Amino acid sequence: MTARIIDGKAIAQKVREEVKAEVARFAAAHGRPPGLDVVLVGDDPASVVYTRNKEKASNDVGMRGRLHKLPEATSEAELLALVASLSLDDAVDGILVQLPLPRHLREERVLEAIDPRKDVDGLLPLNAGLLALGRTRDDGGCRPQTPGLVPCTPRGCMRLLAETGTPLAGARAVVVGRSILVGKPMAHLLLAQHATVTIAHSRTRDLAAVCREADVLVAAVGKARMIQGDWIKEGATVIEVGINRNAEGKLVGDVDFEPAAARAGWITPVPGGVGPMTIACLLENTVAAAERRRQPVPPG
Ligand code: NAP
Repeated sequence: MTARIIDGKAIAQKVREEVKAEVARFAAAHGRPPGLDVVLVGDDPASVVYTRNKEKASNDVGMRGRLHKLPEATSEAELLALVASLSLDDAVDGILVQLPLPRHLREERVLEAIDPRKDVDGLLPLNAGLLALGRTRDDGGCRPQTPGLVPCTPRGCMRLLAETGTPLAGARAVVVGRSILVGKPMAHLLLAQHATVTIAHSRTRDLAAVCREADVLVAAVGKARMIQGDWIKEGATVIEVGINRNAEGKLVGDVDFEPAAARAGWITPVPGGVGPMTIACLLENTVAAAERRRQPVPPG
């Protein structure tokens, strides 16, 4: 078998077009577009690129995207004051503090200054808890019917799975990685779609055997080509979240792509798979947050 490629770039473009229409509708109804505020502390090169892309992507779909660049030496009190003021500002619908923060700043403390209704990364205890309780479902799009906000990358992965038509109910799904940003929310989203989910991590015994069971395999580790081709079940759908640079400086995933693609039914490439979906889903989350703040009673 040779896997079909899941074209994350094209699907992300489709999502952006959907968001653009929703932004225009929101602006016509409320007299202003949804607003996304991104906070960057310091000048980590990857974070500089990510935050610039987020600001640009939000403006490209007609939102008011704004990047707050703070110097590395910013104190925790200064950062907390900015985040608190954004939380109170009615024109701000989504707040994203780019992680990791410089070491002298406590991430948890800073994140908890975000109004949970504006937590477009879905990282706060309220949003993570609603997802874990099964009260938030990823119903897709910009007008969610359930209460919480879902982290962007797993949301993007679910959209990719939906586009392939991979059946999830009753499927064996394996998520490799248990971070709060990717692995755990991904597992909850798959569970909500009635998959039988295993979360694997660095202490998992015989990871190869666990992966071979997977009808759906999500790799979110951060180790180049760790998941080998013969760990892939014939016909499985493989979603690659990992992004790594190999010795030649080329971007590669956690899955050894070529041999895996020889066995899988569907597979995401790196780059051009999950990556473009993350920003597209951040845009969706911002419109969803803006919509939800205008609902008189929170749904769910
Ligand atoms: P993370 O917080 O470092 O988590 C990595 C997870 O992998 C941990 O749960 C860890 O297990 C597990 N792990 C490490 N070594 C392992 C091994 N040998 N076998 C099995 N599991 C192992 O990373 P993350 O934030 O979730 O990100 C994961 C990857 O996705 C990274 O490459 C990151 O760059 C990428 N990423 C991509 C996007 C995108 O938009 N495409 C977005 C976010 C992240 P323990 O918990 O036991 O330590």
